[in-house]
Amino acid sequence: MTPQRVLVFGGTHGNEWTGIFAIKKFVHDIQQEARDLEVEFIVANPEAFVLNRRFKDEDLNRAFQFLSEARPHSYEHRRAREIRELIVERPCFVIDLHTTTASMGNTVIITRQHPLNLRIAAELVSRLPETRVILSPDPHRKYLVSQSDSGLMIEVGPVANGVLEPKALAATKAILAETLRGLATPSTLTKTTLEIYEEIEDIYYPLDESGELTAYIHPELQGKDFSPLSGEYLAFKSFDGKDVKRVTSEVLYPIFINEAAYYPTKLAFTLCRKKSVDL
Ligand SMILES: [Zn+2]
Repeated sequence: MTPQRVLVFGGTHGNEWTGIFAIKKFVHDIQQEARDLEVEFIVANPEAFVLNRRFKDEDLNRAFQFLSEARPHSYEHRRAREIRELIVERPCFVIDLHTTTASMGNTVIITRQHPLNLRIAAELVSRLPETRVILSPDPHRKYLVSQSDSGLMIEVGPVANGVLEPKALAATKAILAETLRGLATPSTLTKTTLEIYEEIEDIYYPLDESGELTAYIHPELQGKDFSPLSGEYLAFKSFDGKDVKRVTSEVLYPIFINEAAYYPTKLAFTLCRKKSVDL
């Protein structure tokens, strides 16, 4: 039988050091879980890593939606083309390592409900119960991981950018090792249900006419990723001290609260609906 091909990417964002060092320094450890697999480890955005920035010219993890355009001056556009070619060359499972400044804990993000993604995610949750699974639908295939039918992102936080945080590094290695173990022994993937947080709405900061923030994340919301919200809830605090409330008609779960990388787009947090999926 041909071994399952797996591509593990770190450093898609050049200032998220956990994933970069996980694949640079722990390849030997990680490969112990992957002896029956054909695994390749790739630093996705080496120039951004040298600069210690999220990206050089544009966000690599959004660049894949522009592949049909000519963007000769974008380094990430070129990288996205190279990575896309590598992925589509032969069927493969893609693992893309990230960290977030939000208090998300240990999560995996899938962009499509491919049976293998669901089965691997369900196995991860049963073996590493602190792991949560997010479904981030990606119809325009802008994310690196969406270039393959099967794959997942590992997203761990809170971690400051350009920092090696030991707990996040350990969690990333553990989730990565379990994912590879599951891929190497598919007969052990026997779970029949999976709880998923499906992204349904992005919430943006309140702005004035010049586009500047008029409020910041409410202290009651800060750090409350995955805590249920229902009815009226405190979302923001205005700079003149007023509570800014929002209302939801169903129970929803906020994620990516106060992610540093999302300030340029004024994205404050994302709301998810929790659902159970039969496998
Ligand atoms: Zn990232």
